[in-house]
This record gives sequence, C-alpha cells and structure tokens, in this order.
Amino acid sequence: METEETNRLTQEEEEEDDDENFKEAWTEDENEEDGGDNDDDLEFRCLFCDSNYSSCDALFEHCRLTHFFDFNGIRKELGLDFYGSFKLINYVRSQVADNRCWSCGVHCQSKQDLQSHLHQSFDAKDVKLILDDDKYLNPFMQEDSLLYSFGGDEEDEDDCNASFDKEEIVKDFGNVCIDDDDTVEDIELNAETYNKDGKTVTGVSNGHLNLTCSSNGITDNGSDYGQSVRSLESHPKDKQSRVYVADIVGKDIKKVNDSYFGSYSSFGIHRDMISDKIRTDAYRQALLKNPSLLNGAVVMDVGCGTGILSLFAAQAGASRVISIEASEKMATVATQIAKDNGLWRSKTDDEGNKNCTGVIEVVHTMVENLDKSIQIQPHSVDILVSEWMGYCLLYESMLNSVLFARDRWLKPGGAMLPDTATIFVAGFGKGGTSLPFWENVYGFNMSSIGKEVVEDAAKFPVIDIINHHDLVTNAAVLQSFDLATMKPDEVDFTATAELEAKFDNMDHKATSCFGVVLWFDTGFTSRFCKETPTVLSTSPYTPKTHWSQTILTFREAVSVASSKFAAEESADVGTNACPASKIILRISIARATQHRCIDISLETAGVSPDGRKCSWPAQIFNLT
Ligand code: SAH
Repeated sequence: METEETNRLTQEEEEEDDDENFKEAWTEDENEEDGGDNDDDLEFRCLFCDSNYSSCDALFEHCRLTHFFDFNGIRKELGLDFYGSFKLINYVRSQVADNRCWSCGVHCQSKQDLQSHLHQSFDAKDVKLILDDDKYLNPFMQEDSLLYSFGGDEEDEDDCNASFDKEEIVKDFGNVCIDDDDTVEDIELNAETYNKDGKTVTGVSNGHLNLTCSSNGITDNGSDYGQSVRSLESHPKDKQSRVYVADIVGKDIKKVNDSYFGSYSSFGIHRDMISDKIRTDAYRQALLKNPSLLNGAVVMDVGCGTGILSLFAAQAGASRVISIEASEKMATVATQIAKDNGLWRSKTDDEGNKNCTGVIEVVHTMVENLDKSIQIQPHSVDILVSEWMGYCLLYESMLNSVLFARDRWLKPGGAMLPDTATIFVAGFGKGGTSLPFWENVYGFNMSSIGKEVVEDAAKFPVIDIINHHDLVTNAAVLQSFDLATMKPDEVDFTATAELEAKFDNMDHKATSCFGVVLWFDTGFTSRFCKETPTVLSTSPYTPKTHWSQTILTFREAVSVASSKFAAEESADVGTNACPASKIILRISIARATQHRCIDISLETAGVSPDGRKCSWPAQIFNLT
C-alpha cells in the first residue's frame, strides 16, 4: 500500500518527467488523425480592424506590423499567464469598440482615428492593473475564436500554450471569479484532493468519478472505494498547470467522457450508490409514495445505471419508462435486470408483440444523443428522474445533461425528481481538522504533521465527513436551484453567505474557525410529490452519505466569538484579541477547464463586534 509520504515524494520527483511526458503526449495527440478540432476552419478577427486571418500567428503578425500591438511581446513584458492573456484580448476588444486606445486610454473620434493613433509604447503598470479586473474574463466578442486558440511560444509554454474547446472555455469563464495571481500556482497545487489525513481522495464523485491517475485507494470515512473507482488513463498526471490541462481537455472531451462512462461500468460503484440507503430510499420514497404522480406516467430516467430508479418507477405504476445510460456495460446490465424482473419491454412491443409485459426500455446513449437512437416526441415525458449529483453537488457536470433532457422532452409542467437543490455552508473548528489526531498519538505529540496537513488542506478541497459538533458557526444557504426552471448556465454561480459564530455554552469565549464546509440537499418537494415530499440531505446534521461533505480550509484560522466578546479595539479582526463575530463569504463555483471538474473560489472576510472588517486573500480550490 502506498503511503502518503511515498506518494507525495514520488509525485514531486516525477513532476519534471511528467511535464515532459505530458508535452510528448500532447504532441502525439496533436498528430493523431482524429485529433479533433483543428483550426483550419476558424477565422480570427483582428483586434483593431475588420481583417480576418486563418491563423492566430498571422493575425498577431498583422497586429504587430499594422497596429503596433505585439501580443506575444506584451504578454512577455507583463508576465501574463493564460488568464491574463485572455483578459488582454477582451480588454483590447472592449477599448477598440469604444474607439479608445488600449494603452493610453485616449478617446478617438472614429475607428480610423484610433487606428492612426495606435502606438507601440505602453505603461506596463497601468495595463497590468487594468488586467487585474476579472470582468475581462468575460468574452467581449461572441464567438471569438482567438480566445480559445491563441498560442504560446515554446519557452513560455507553461504560461502561454493554449488551444481550447470553444464551448468549454467560454462557459468556464462565464461567471468564475478568479484570483489571477493565484490561479496557475493554485491549480497546479490543487490538482489532487485530499482527505483530512492527507490521503488522496480525488476520484470519487456522484461521488464516484475518477478524473485522475492516482493509484491510491480512495478512503472515505473508512470505506475503501479504491477497487470500484477507475482512473482516467487518457489524462496525464494532474500536477500540471491549468493551461496544460486545458490543452488536453479541449482536444479530449470525448476521451474524458469515455473514461467517465467507463468508470461507471464498474459494479462496485453501483453497489456503493445503491447501498447508500439515505440516497436510494429518498428516490424510492419519491417514486413509490406519490401514486398520483406516478400512476400511468411516462418517465425518463437520465443515467439509469443498474436501472434501480427505473425499476422503482415501473413498480410505482409508470406506463412507460425510458431508461438512458451512456455506459454500454451498464445499459446491457440494466436491460438484463429489467428482463429478469419481468419489467422489460422491447422496442418491438410497440408493434404489437404479445409477450410485452414490462414498461422499461433501456437506451444505450448519452442523453444528448438520444435522438439518434430513438424517436421520442418532444415534450411528451411526464416525469424526469435522475440521480445526477456529484461531490459538492456540481462535480461531474451531469446536471447539464439532465437539464438538456428537461428542455427537450419534459412536458410543460412535468415533474423533475428531484426538483430542488440547495448548497449550504458553515464554519468548522479544530475538531473538523486532523489536528486533534496528531496531537496525541499513543501519548506522543505529532502535531507538526497535523499542522502540515492543515496547511496542505488550504490548497485542496477535501471530501470527508464533518461532525456537526465541530461546526463553530450557524449554517447558511449558499445557493438554491430550482431544477424545473433554472437555465443551464446557472450551474456556474457566485453567491455570498454570512456566518455567525455559534456557541452552545454562553461563556463567550473565542474559538478558531479553520475553514468552511459545503454540503447539499435535494428536494422532492410537494410541487410534484404531493402525497409524500422528501428531502435527500448530505448535511453534517443528518446521517452520512457517500457524498460526505466538501471541506475548504482557510490558509489561516480565523478566531471567532459571539458579539458579546470583549474585543480589543486596536487588535486585528480575526485574532484571539479581537475575534470576528461574523464571517462573510463570497463563493463561486464554476465548471473548470478540465471537463466535468469544478473550480471553487472562496473569499473570506471577518467582522468584529464593533463593525470593523478584515478580509483575506481569495483561495481557489479545484475539484478534479
Ligand atoms: N440512476 C442510477 C445511477 C446513477 S449514477 C442510480 O441511481 O443508482 C449516474 C449514471 O448516469 C451513471 O451510470 C452514468 O454512466 C450515467 N450518465 C451520466 N451522464 C450521462 C449522460 N449524459 N447520458 C446518459 N447517461 C449518463
């Protein structure tokens, strides 16, 4: 068995090699015949005039010679990483649209005037400051090929090389709030997920998806998921900059999907999900205990796996269950199971096959491609059921597949099961970290390990169970989704929450808040489940589920106390002398460049009882 230390060491030693391997893999990939996107069909519009070019290089050469804008030179001079360069393009386009000079800000009368005014010199400091603004992460121009194709020079590949899938990149930057300075470094570091003891846990999702190549077993609260989780061979080691990851991902979404669905071919994963009684009982109750909804209904089960939810639906009296599964293995298995339980109906049933006894039809396809396999009348489905939730609710990006199915096949007013999802947040204390464990190991003080583990935890999201006794603030709603009405883009969001220090004893002592924990509930509400509404909760206050909770650790603990604490007025907010009585959070969750992964950004501020505020630098956590 690999230990934490050997694993870490090996990773560090291999990092350089990996970089090389990764580059090689990329080169090979590029050369593959079916390498996917190439830029042959793309047009790149000049930043300053109406000319179009068939390659970025040609466009940049034109900009350099005609408009004195040396994109690669400026990137180098300003030390711009991928995000900075992305912003530079959007910034320049926005200025040009306003007939303004990108470098000195002069406003010209016309586009022509602007073009004659453009000059080579620019104030690096000013431009750098401007590019700190994350608003330039939003593409200024629709369908801007340049944003996902601009390349980097060889030596600067770490920072600059980029060739992206258009939709991915545009959707990635739709909402995400990124601390530019931290990004590359953090994402390199955040490439793996640890549990509280520092073991790699990346890979479980729904909680079963594995998007890394870690060979570690996945230990989540004692249960070893290692056997049931497969790695994504197509991905090189994840200790790479986000830019590298994006390079591969842009080309390889199909490979990611293949591996993703491949990982769902493992029976262990399905056993783990089905054995999660909290989860499976919630769906069972929603389906079986709402007869007025289910009786005679046409049901679509998106991602049926073994078909368990379809079987419940059939048992509840549905007249037709369309069970869609992208994993070939599981589609075959679900068909067999439906047959074995006398609930299968073959496609020929519609043509009068007298042996038709069942209602379940299993279709092997991604739901996005369902039309290619079977004709289903648009807006003809009464109920759309799916168990799509990943870690931190949104990991795996399966929700978008469900919303796709909703918009195409659900009847107006049709039922979504579940129909709501809510993400909660609360602050946790020392008991939520591994510090207490390391403080006393058979009577020896090993807290130096504990400290290191907590420091590391500030770089990675940790999937683990938090006991509600270890929460030191109230819980607050971070974001709610109405699954019947939300738009697909709303899966990326930024939200704020206010946490108040919570004290069971009223002695008004200060305590340390080490970070925040996220969890979610999904609701089968009375809107559709009139007889028996149900909530599936993954909260620390309710019995644990295989999703555990998602732990985001602060870089430094924040001292918190009730507002009655006699704080020192001159002391810094969040210290023991002046604990914060409130913590204000701004959290963004957005789909990451790496397909099916999410980026979480966390901004934290503390407020003292006398209203003074202190904020800490943003942290970015990448759930890969
Ligand atoms: N419904 C099952 C399995 C849930 S796990 C249960 O409750 O036990 C999610 C399943 O959805 C996996 O089997 C996965 O392969 C499938 N899946 C994910 N995205 C899909 C998509 N876009 N189209 C079809 N199936 C999908």
